[in-house]
Amino acid sequence: MQDLRVPSLLVVLAGPSGAGKTTLARLLITRHPDFLFSVSATTRAARAGEQDGVDYHFLDRARFEELVRTGEMLEYAEVHGELYGTPRYNLDVARERGQHLLLDIDVQGARQVRRVEPEVLSIFLLPPSGTRVVERLRGRGSEDEDELRQRLATAEAELRAVSEFEYVLVNDELEETTRRLKSILASEERKVARLGKEAVERANRLISEIRRALNERGDTL
Ligand code: ADP
Ligand code: 5GP
Repeated sequence: MQDLRVPSLLVVLAGPSGAGKTTLARLLITRHPDFLFSVSATTRAARAGEQDGVDYHFLDRARFEELVRTGEMLEYAEVHGELYGTPRYNLDVARERGQHLLLDIDVQGARQVRRVEPEVLSIFLLPPSGTRVVERLRGRGSEDEDELRQRLATAEAELRAVSEFEYVLVNDELEETTRRLKSILASEERKVARLGKEAVERANRLISEIRRALNERGDTL
């Protein structure tokens, strides 16, 4: 018998800068084709090695604001002085293809998504310690010292939002975090509330099949 048709999950991964959201999200999608990474739009400049359309859609402010005006953003927020947003189109594509959509966004964005898509699965990622987050951000080498300070200041506000989330993961060892994330997702896929009619229809079909099998043997219930 075929497995249940699992519903498309909308997953928000949030947490302070340097927690490892992007690393974790990217790792998950390279291993699991049933996940689609939601490529955000941003007005910030591309970092060395970042590709337009792959890491972000790099837009100027006028174009970004136009997309907000025309209702094409599922959510958006200003983070560290730049605009970031999730094109609604990403969600349409994921649902059309039956994939899960993984959003790597900030806590302001997570709040907006919760308002418009209440069934969203929200996961908060914590770095293992204060020193490690500073080391990781320095190691990433993508910001100067001023920008780094700004990210650490924003981290405080992000961390205060932890209780708004359903799940929390400490990203110490990457493989272990990935394993835990996968186990959360695997459980969520099987929730009857998410499967909706699919679970009930499957159970009803089994009732009919059992009755038929009994009839064939000349028995009845
Ligand atoms: P975020 O997207 O949350 O800002 P990144 O994914 O960019 O964070 O990670 C910040 C830095 O930390 C990157 O250089 C990344 O390679 C590194 N990193 C992420 N997760 C881990 C981990 N579990 N162990 C060690 N380094 C990590
Ligand atoms: P970075 O510049 O390091 O790539 O991202 C900075 C912050 O912006 C991170 O906290 C990241 O999660 C957040 N961010 C990235 N994309 C989006 C988005 O589409 N919407 C919102 N609200 N935040 C985003």
